[in-house]
Amino acid sequence: MIIIMLGAPGTGKGTAAKVLTKGLNIPAVSSGDIFRKAIADGTELGKEVEGYISNGKLVPDELTIKVIEARLKEPDLANGVILDGFPRTTEQAERLDKFLSQEGKKIDLVVNLETPVEELIERVVNRRKCPNCKADFNMKLNPPKTGEICDFCGTPLERRADDNEETMRARLDTYEKQTAPIVDFYQKQGNLLTAEVSKRCGRMAPELAESIIEDFRKKGLV
Ligand code: AMP
Repeated sequence: MIIIMLGAPGTGKGTAAKVLTKGLNIPAVSSGDIFRKAIADGTELGKEVEGYISNGKLVPDELTIKVIEARLKEPDLANGVILDGFPRTTEQAERLDKFLSQEGKKIDLVVNLETPVEELIERVVNRRKCPNCKADFNMKLNPPKTGEICDFCGTPLERRADDNEETMRARLDTYEKQTAPIVDFYQKQGNLLTAEVSKRCGRMAPELAESIIEDFRKKGLV
C-alpha cells in the first residue's frame, strides 16, 4: 500500500504517518528526515541541502527525486510506504507516478491535512523532539513533565533549526506557491482525502490517522 501525506508544515503529517505506520505495519519515509540526517552526518548531500532548508526553500527537484527514488528501491519498502513530505511539487508528483508505474505500483491514498495558518505557526515554534528516542513534544499542546527533558529517556529535547517563526513563514509561502497545486493534481486522480485537523474542529492528525486505519479495516484492506 502506498500512502502520501500532504499538507503545510506543522499540520501533523509526520505524527499521522507514525500512527499509520503502527496501525498498517508499513514504514514511513520522510524526505525532511533524510535531509536532516544528511546534514547532521555532514555528508555531501547534507552540505548541498542545508542552505535551502534553513531558508525555508525547497531542495531542487532533481536532487530530491534522486534521493527518494533510491530510498523507494530499498527492500524494506517492497510492501508499501507512507511518504511524508514527498512529493512537494508537480514535477515530483509526476515523476513519482512514472517511477511507480515502472515498478507496477500505484498510490492508494493521498491524505491532505488542512489547518488554519496561525495555529500552524504556534504549533511549529513550540514543537520539540527527543534526539535519542525520537519522541515528539509540543511545549503548549503536549509538554514534557519537566522542563525541556524527554519523559521517556531523560534526554534534553531539541528544536529543529527551521522551526522558528521567520523560517516557518517562508516555508508556508513556499508551500502555497509550490506544493498546494499538487492537491489539484491528486484531486483529478480521484484518490485524495482532504480533512481539517485543528483545535477548532476538535480533531488532530493522530485521530484522523486512526479513522483512516479503521476505514481500511472495515474495507478488509488490512
Ligand atoms: P519537512 O521535515 O517535511 O518539513 O521538510 C523540511 C525541509 O526539507 C523543507 O522545508 C524543505 O527545505 C526540505 N524538503 C523536504 N522534503 C522536500 C521535498 N519533497 N522537496 C524539496 N524539499 C524538501
